[in-house]
Amino acid sequence: AKKLGKGQFQFYTESLNVAARDRLALDSALRRALEQDELYVVYQPKVDARGRPFGFEALVRWDSAEFGSVSPVRFIPLAEENGLIGQLTWFVLRAACHEAARWRAAGHERLRVAVNISPSLFREKDLAALVRSVLEEAGLPPGNLELEITEGMLMGDVQRALAVLDELKAMGVYIAVDDFGTGYSSLAYLKRFPIDILKVDRSFVLECDQGNGGLAITRAIVSLAHSLNLRVVAEGVEKQTQLAVLNALGCEEFQGYLFARPLPAAQLAGYLDEKSPK
Ligand code: C2E
Ligand code: CA
Ligand code: CA
Ligand code: CA
Repeated sequence: AKKLGKGQFQFYTESLNVAARDRLALDSALRRALEQDELYVVYQPKVDARGRPFGFEALVRWDSAEFGSVSPVRFIPLAEENGLIGQLTWFVLRAACHEAARWRAAGHERLRVAVNISPSLFREKDLAALVRSVLEEAGLPPGNLELEITEGMLMGDVQRALAVLDELKAMGVYIAVDDFGTGYSSLAYLKRFPIDILKVDRSFVLECDQGNGGLAITRAIVSLAHSLNLRVVAEGVEKQTQLAVLNALGCEEFQGYLFARPLPAAQLAGYLDEKSPK
């Protein structure tokens, strides 16, 4: 047993080393990816109950020459730690705003594009100035852009977050709180910040068509949002039964595999021709 114990210990430290080495390699690969063309953006529709699009969420993808396709769940946290998140967000924001400007030019003047904003960006960068310069460059009106922030951002340096969000709001950019219900924001925060949209986290959507409290929680979230005059988006809708419940509760927008997976930019024109003909 002693020997086994030692072996296990060695195995443990070795795998830690491997993890650290992997991380370093991934880190430098991500730096290169930002310079070479390995990152790109896909767009997932947000639709009404009949499937007509209000807009799209921009989601970053990384096809690495070295690691193959890497999930954002893995490299976004890494980018937050190694300081690359600013560059990465700028890349996604630019791609998304230029893309939305093309939709407008094709006659879809009201479609919004939503971009995910990491909490760390709020603390370090002048986000409002960055957004303004990208909108100007792309020629996109602020009303066609939505920023998805998380509850965590509303904690921390509240004064700073408020100042940045107020400035964005004054420009006319829409603000959505992502993954709502999974963080720790209080109702007081929700009321205090200039938020337009609340995205109900997928974990609640997953259970909203089941007994054991799933429906009750979703109903509570939706009615809270509506009492604060927020628009409600349900994310991760996969089943017709979930859609039926969410629609009955008064959710305004739906996003999920039931309607569409994230699409490459090249497929959007065809999608819009079909779902939102001009
Ligand atoms: P998120 O913002 O909650 O994005 C939704 C995620 O759920 C996306 O995964 C999307 O592909 C996935 N999804 C959509 N519909 C369904 C569904 O019906 N069922 C299931 N099971 N999943 C669905 P993705 O693209 O892998 O992104 C994961 C997370 O990575 C995002 O979660 C977001 O936190 C982060 N992320 C992605 N792109 C960016 C980005 O450009 N910037 C930042 N800061 N974070 C990003
Ligand atoms: Ca999001
Ligand atoms: Ca989300
Ligand atoms: Ca989520």
